Amino acid sequence: MSARIYAIANQKGGVGKTTTAVNLSAALARLGRKVLLVDLDPQGNATMGSGIDKQAVSQTVYPVLLGLTGIAEARVASPDGGYDVLAANRDLAGAEIELVGLEGREHQLAKALAVVAQQYDFIILDCPPSLSLLTLNGLCAAHGVIIPMQCEYFALEGLSDLVNSIKRVHANLNPEIELVGLLRVMFDPRMTLSQQVSDQLVRHFGDKVFNAVIPRNVRLAEAPSFGQPGIVYDPGSRGSKAYLEFGEELIGRLSHGLVVTEEA
Ligand code: ATP
Ligand code: MG
Repeated sequence: MSARIYAIANQKGGVGKTTTAVNLSAALARLGRKVLLVDLDPQGNATMGSGIDKQAVSQTVYPVLLGLTGIAEARVASPDGGYDVLAANRDLAGAEIELVGLEGREHQLAKALAVVAQQYDFIILDCPPSLSLLTLNGLCAAHGVIIPMQCEYFALEGLSDLVNSIKRVHANLNPEIELVGLLRVMFDPRMTLSQQVSDQLVRHFGDKVFNAVIPRNVRLAEAPSFGQPGIVYDPGSRGSKAYLEFGEELIGRLSHGLVVTEEA
């Protein structure tokens, strides 16, 4: 069996991509799955949130994307997370420019992942807040895209850009890719607006909206400063429980063969 590869993407900044990537990785690991988390963001937040010092790490995703080294050489273990990490730091900002000259530049990550895919059940890609060449590498490597969304007034704005990008990648670069689902994050049930936007999402996207809902929970926000996924830092918190439920839902969808059949 080869890993299922999921890109966590949304070109909006600060919507919970990294929190989702880190905690989904930790949840899947806790559920007994072998997981690799790939940090595709020069901010390196997924790296730090997994307990890896982005300045001190010797190998990152950057030389991997340039074809200079393999993932087997570059990956490190998250000390407490129970999963492997392909780290990122600011070096990655330069990759964008260096990649442009390479033939098949969109497929560099896919090529590198193919070598280690048999060793994992899941590979989770934390994408940067843009539709850049780095995100494009993520979309070309992934079987599916998971979009974290805050249920606020402008949440749907920009969503069509992302969905159109996924369609373009599907048509031109990666026929396997599909929109797996939308994940409601930082949800505040006391806000009528949250509920209204949530209802609107479900009306629009039907069963592409995951049942699991991630609440706004301060423990999830605190955890990165301790270099731990929220799931490890405070397993009993509401946020951690929600991410565990999400992990279970994702595994359940796979085993029931429900992962989206028609095109997004
Ligand atoms: P960027 O676009 O910069 O990469 P992002 O989409 O990866 O951002 P995060 O870094 O995951 O977003 O989250 C943005 C901020 O919101 C962080 O400070 C994070 O700790 C906080 N946060 C994320 N999810 C939650 C949550 N469910 N409850 C409370 N705080 C959260
Ligand atoms: Mg992020």
